[in-house]
Formats: sequence, structure tokens, C-alpha cells
Amino acid sequence: MYQTKLQKKKVTIRDVWDARKRIHSIVNRTPVLYSSILSEKLGRNVYLKLENIHEIGAFKVRGAANKILSLSEEEKRLGVATFSTGNHGMAVAYVAQKLGIEAVVCISNRVPKAKVDSLKRLGAKIEIVGESQDEAGIRCYELEKERGLTVIQPFDDPYVIAGQGTIGLELLEDLPHLTDVIVPLSGGGLLSGIGLALKSNDQAIRVTGVSMEYSAVMYESLKSGKPIEMEESETLADSLLGGIGLDNQYTFEMVQKYMDECLLIPEEEIGYSMAFMMDKHRMIMEGAAATGIAAVLGKKIPHQDGDVAVIISGQNVDLSVLSNLIQKYLINR
Ligand SMILES: *Cc1c(COP(=O)(O)O)cnc(C)c1O
Repeated sequence: MYQTKLQKKKVTIRDVWDARKRIHSIVNRTPVLYSSILSEKLGRNVYLKLENIHEIGAFKVRGAANKILSLSEEEKRLGVATFSTGNHGMAVAYVAQKLGIEAVVCISNRVPKAKVDSLKRLGAKIEIVGESQDEAGIRCYELEKERGLTVIQPFDDPYVIAGQGTIGLELLEDLPHLTDVIVPLSGGGLLSGIGLALKSNDQAIRVTGVSMEYSAVMYESLKSGKPIEMEESETLADSLLGGIGLDNQYTFEMVQKYMDECLLIPEEEIGYSMAFMMDKHRMIMEGAAATGIAAVLGKKIPHQDGDVAVIISGQNVDLSVLSNLIQKYLINR
């Protein structure tokens, strides 16, 4: 059927099942881990969905794999591009390397050397342009025009959303008594996908989004009734920074539809939760993932029957940050 540009594709549960098949060969299923200490604290069974144990240390490999694998042979031959230097950039580089596809990452000259090195290790070609993320973004879209590279979106793309949704399918299989899921929220690809997968099966499962207290762009956008822009502030949950796009096509509506509640977590609680997980679970998690732990430790999840799943979205954090937190919460207490 003829489709105009205005008729966008809606993401359906079928797309999530297709994603599961498509990414199977390069993305490992992740386990859920029962946490007795968090269960005791909350008075409910708490499980950790270990999205930190993917090779790149974050769930974003799911969405990137689903998107890149669904490109045409011609598109794959021309290659892919991104201007993310965070977990999404790593995911795109990783998947492209696995598939023998060229990946270009456009970055500003402010990006720290450690990040550039990890991208290079994954075989990405680095293009350094300008002083800001915005300039890097502009260059990325120029490359799309000039060389036919496909820019891989970090969240506002139906394939990326469906890829992240495969987490929801795994949760349904592993936790038949699941009633609450806690999902770190930034651009909303993760929450849209998981919400779609869970609520298509059981409307009653509660989806709680968690963000840092300041620069929670999706939260503020939902309050305003439309996508807005905000200034970024320093946060331990750096993977949750970034806008949702003023011309957001998918995730704004999907988060609006699937999220039951959104909790904003103060910095202090994010830091404490990171230290708590190192101390009590011997687990490293980045600030973005620790927002969900903070929601549990702060008993911000309603008391009812059923199992709670916390999405441990990633573990990519500098050791210097961790060592400061150990000093602050575990040694000088
Ligand atoms: C990207 C990311 C998120 C947020 O995902 P969105 O789809 O942008 O909402 C959460 N945690 C980590 C570790 C991430 O890298």
C-alpha cells in the first residue's frame, strides 16, 4: 500500500517478536537475579534484570542490533553512523563490527580520550568535528547525505524500540508473577519497548520510569503535554541526559501510554545506591541503572503482592567516580 511520509509505522508486539528472532544471533539473553537484600528492604520479591552483562555493558545493543540487521543489503554495504559517544555509540560500533559493516562515530574534540579509545577498539571510524555534540550531529547527517550512511537513532526509531522490547519478553518468561517493573528513563526507547511487550500481555503490570531529579526531559515534556528542551545539569546518571527531540515521533506517545508513574531520584540517592550495590551485591552499576535501586531502597514502589523487576540498564562508569563513592559512603561513614 502507498504510504505517505506522514503515516508513520506504529510499533506493535509483532515487531518485538520479530526483533527477538532477528537479534538472537548477536545478543545474549540476560538472566534475572533474585536479590534477597533488596526484597527484605522493600517487603516484596525484587529481581534484577541484568542488562549490564552484555559485552558492551548496557542494553543498547538490543536496539542497535535490531535496527542494523533490518537494513537492506545496500544500506549495510554503505555503512552506519552515529554521534553518540555513550552506550548507544558503543552499541552501534559493536554490532557493526560483528556484522562487518562500517560504523562512523562523529564526535566533538571535547570527548574524553578514554571514550574515543573504546570506540576505536570496537572498530569504529572516528570523525572529530567542532566543539559540541550539536556540531557532531550536523556532521553525521552530512555524511548521510554525502555517503549514504544510515544514521542510527538512539531511541526514537521503531526498530530500536522493538529491540529494547525484547527485554520485556524475557521478563514475562522468567517472572510469571511480575507485577511491577522499574525502568530507567531518558529518551524513552527502553521504557516504550518494555511497556509495549509487558502491557500487550498483561495490562495490569505497572511500569515505573525513573530519572534523575534535574534535566528529566521526558518527565517535564509529559507534564507540558509536548516535547520540550531543557538545559543539561551534572548528574551521576549521565546516560540519562539528552533531549527527546522536539519532533519526537514515537517515544513521547508510547511513554505517555505505557508509563504508570515517573519517579525523580535525587543525586544523593543515586550515589548511595551505587555504593550500596558495590557493598552488598558486589555489583558495579552506572548511575542510570542505580536510579531503579534508589526507588527500591527509598520504598517508592507501592506495597502490593507480586514480583518487582528492576532493569539494571548498564555498568559503564569511570573507576574514579566509583572510588569517590566508596570514600564517601563506605569508608568514612
Ligand atoms: C540509554 C540508557 C538509558 C535510557 O534509555 P532510553 O531509551 O534513552 O530511555 C538507561 N540506562 C542506560 C545505562 C542507558 O545507556
